Amino acid sequence: MSDKIIDGKLISSEIREKVKKFGGQLKSKTGKVPGLAVVLVGENPASRVYVKNKIEKTIEVGFTSIEHKLNEKVSENELIDLVDKLNNDKNVQGILVQLPLPKHVDSDKILDRIKPEKDVDGFHANNVGKLWSGLDSLVPCTPLGCSIILKKISKDLSGKHVVIIGRSNIVGKPMAALLLGMNATVTICHSRTKDLESVCKTADIIVAAVGIPEMVKSYWIREDAIIIDVGINRVERDEKKILVGDVDYNDCLKKCSLITPVPGGVGPMTIACLLLNTLLASYPQFGEPTPDLSSILE
Ligand code: NDP
Repeated sequence: MSDKIIDGKLISSEIREKVKKFGGQLKSKTGKVPGLAVVLVGENPASRVYVKNKIEKTIEVGFTSIEHKLNEKVSENELIDLVDKLNNDKNVQGILVQLPLPKHVDSDKILDRIKPEKDVDGFHANNVGKLWSGLDSLVPCTPLGCSIILKKISKDLSGKHVVIIGRSNIVGKPMAALLLGMNATVTICHSRTKDLESVCKTADIIVAAVGIPEMVKSYWIREDAIIIDVGINRVERDEKKILVGDVDYNDCLKKCSLITPVPGGVGPMTIACLLLNTLLASYPQFGEPTPDLSSILE
């Protein structure tokens, strides 16, 4: 493997080992095991694969996995009732409602129904507000994973210019809040940004979270830029379905200093961070002080 390639599989397996270790210590102290409830609605094939992976990894770190598979036609009220039940279940420390939900369900309403202390996706307005205020909170898993990668490869981001492409609530915006907390100078781009290519050329680090296959080209990036590719796009090549990122990987690999591959970069970090969040959510629910994230990850 080229030494320019950031091995997300390796970093994520190290995180899962640490989660397992701290979860084991928490169990020895309290006699309780963290539980993660996953709610899956409908038959979306990508969501089913994500959920299957999440459940496998939850069990691997020694946590309890609670799965609720619901029919596509489930009503909003039935979903609210299920979230309420999980909110009050002492065996459940983290609740994840897999997105997207069917169109007839108001996703924001469901996500905001989850108790903030069990909101391991970090999407509840209370957690979003805390993140932007620089307070401890549960942080969305994908940007948390990107920030852990960046801390690992570049200890100090002070003054570095990071260009984030994408302003979604799931990736782009929380990524910006985390990077500001790491003293980076942050530019957020989106579909109305003018001359994206020129903006990218000014970046020390690019975080691409767009959903457009291989959009970022080598002539967009500075020599030695660090590239974090969040994108997961299914495309057809030579009659085969493959996954590619939002960055033209083979093209940018030559010019950048470091890059996350797709698959095997940010993707596995997301699941590791979900387990990390479930661990972090469990301490206060078990009446224990929450350790610093850095002490878990060191
Ligand atoms: P969204 O569709 O919610 O957001 C995409 C963002 O990209 C929007 O802010 C949009 O701008 C912006 N955008 C779209 N077209 C352009 C363009 N031509 N130029 C500049 N910006 C543009 O996507 P997500 O944030 O949910 O996901 C982004 C990607 O990351 C997807 O490929 C997704 O599959 C992947 N992903 C991967 C995860 C992982 O675990 N690795 C987890 C989550 C997502 P505007 O706001 O103006 O519409």
